[in-house]
Amino acid sequence: MAINKEDQLRIDVVRGAKAVFTKGLVEAGEGNVSVRHGKKEELFITPSFNQYETLKKDEIVHLNFEGTSISAGKLPSTEAKMHIEIYKTRPKVQSIIHTHSPFATMLSIVRKSIPVIMEEMYIFLGGSVDVSEFGEAHTLEIGEAALKALDTKNAALLANHGVIVCGKSLDHAIKFAELVEKLAKMYWGSLQIGTPYVISEKQLEPFEKLYESMFANYPRHLRKRIEK
Ligand SMILES: [Zn+2]
Repeated sequence: MAINKEDQLRIDVVRGAKAVFTKGLVEAGEGNVSVRHGKKEELFITPSFNQYETLKKDEIVHLNFEGTSISAGKLPSTEAKMHIEIYKTRPKVQSIIHTHSPFATMLSIVRKSIPVIMEEMYIFLGGSVDVSEFGEAHTLEIGEAALKALDTKNAALLANHGVIVCGKSLDHAIKFAELVEKLAKMYWGSLQIGTPYVISEKQLEPFEKLYESMFANYPRHLRKRIEK
């Protein structure tokens, strides 16, 4: 029997949630995963108090961009407002993941952005991973702060809170969430043993096209990549 579109999106959210849980980027009850509902102003998101190990598709919450639940079931994640704000502002974004992965969160607590320390960081994320202004969790404010820190990039650290990533697909978002934690760990480790060298903008030029064509999802009016 063919699976309908909405069921498929619920299954996708469960897959994303299990992926970030398995990779150790979230623990029970924290973080959230969502996907956009095609061209509709709607999304599917993990429920509040999400139990990743036992999560089933029928627990996934279907919301519109006003934050109203469309289907019966669990309460939406309290951080849904942040997801909605990003979907509204960045039409190309198809999936958003928020984690409290430990190394990235440590950097967010000391408000340290991750500079471009590896080329892959530029290719997948579009540059440094910057820390947002502090915003109270579960508010619209945190969404606005996240968007500002994201700028033209795909990942940001939320001050004293965690990580937000957005992608043109669920698989991109999973990859980015994993990459941010790996980079945070490497940057943290490098700071323990010396002074990390940052890759210069000139050295990143060859990778600009790759980022722009494969992974970038910011609105065109923000375009201000490396000057030639
Ligand atoms: Zn959170």
